[in-house]
Amino acid sequence: MSYVFVTRRVPGRAVELLREAGHGVDVWDGEMPPGSDILRERLLEADAALTLVTDPVGPDLLAAAPRLRVVANMAVGYDNIDADAAAAAGVWATNTPGVLHETTADLAFALLLAAARNVVLGDRDTRDGGWRTWSPTAFLGHDPFGATLGIVGLGEIGRAVARRARGFGMTVLAATRTPRPGVERELGVEGVSLTELLERSDFVTLHVPYGPETEHLMGPAEFAAMKETAILVNTARGGVVDQDALVEALRTGAIGGAALDVTVPEPLPLDHPLYEFPNVVITPHIGSGSHATRARMAEMAAENIIAVLAGEEPPNPVNRPPNPRSA
Ligand code: NAP
Repeated sequence: MSYVFVTRRVPGRAVELLREAGHGVDVWDGEMPPGSDILRERLLEADAALTLVTDPVGPDLLAAAPRLRVVANMAVGYDNIDADAAAAAGVWATNTPGVLHETTADLAFALLLAAARNVVLGDRDTRDGGWRTWSPTAFLGHDPFGATLGIVGLGEIGRAVARRARGFGMTVLAATRTPRPGVERELGVEGVSLTELLERSDFVTLHVPYGPETEHLMGPAEFAAMKETAILVNTARGGVVDQDALVEALRTGAIGGAALDVTVPEPLPLDHPLYEFPNVVITPHIGSGSHATRARMAEMAAENIIAVLAGEEPPNPVNRPPNPRSA
């Protein structure tokens, strides 16, 4: 019997699917991730791992996992896995595309609206007893309706954000690696350079994967190019933003605010300067966090494992081992 290590309790039928396929399943029951020692110990025997973004899988761990045939990440981003090292070791790495973009786009929009209209500040003030009368000047924000939205990275999530922006009457600009004029036309999006996007946008929302090419894509020069009232929304990965430069931009008023679902590190320590700004909204990496989507993501990860352990190619590979390990 093959043995699958699942690094946290996951929603939906994923574990059932694995058991129905005849595999032994061990689910890490802790609230916190298993940590590198436990991961190493469990993967010593495991044929497959269902991992989360909180589980780093690098060459050392792979070398210590002689039976491992697939690492199925329950996420579309897989920067926690060294996919090339996995391929070299004969191990498939997989992700969960196509099922979480609408849910993540919803959160990007929720953050945009929250930051633009002081939703979180207003809630906090209400609970603190600050709501004494209707005030003509309190908590004034900026209108998303009719504003210009800049989307950086026009992939699945970026496109889903663009569709939402239509309903808000927004002018939508996009800067992406591979411009696709047909897609841009269909979405009513104007393809521009990153610099032009930053100069013209009232809201800038990031939807690129994290990697060497996108690390600190938003740095001092980019913040300087933004409007002083513009709000940055980041639901991509924390490392796409140079966080020190962001703090500086907020401190000097170079930008109007930020709404972040992802940070470096995660969780963001409570003494971090980003918490000091009232015009910053922070959520704990919940972009894909709806009941239905998280269940579907876990089930997809299970389906990738089931395929590999049956000797097939997984449906959602992010690498291609030249010599995949076999049972
Ligand atoms: P996707 O469909 O792969 O789209 C990514 C887009 O970014 C592609 O259009 C890609 O261009 C573009 N891109 C890549 N490198 C770029 C660069 N250097 N400059 C400009 N554009 C670049 O991915 P997705 O599903 O939209 O997800 C995007 C990211 O969101 C994921 O990688 C993940 O890290 C993050 N995410 C976060 C959460 C959350 O919970 N907060 C949830 C889901 C995803 P090409 O067409 O040339 O490849």
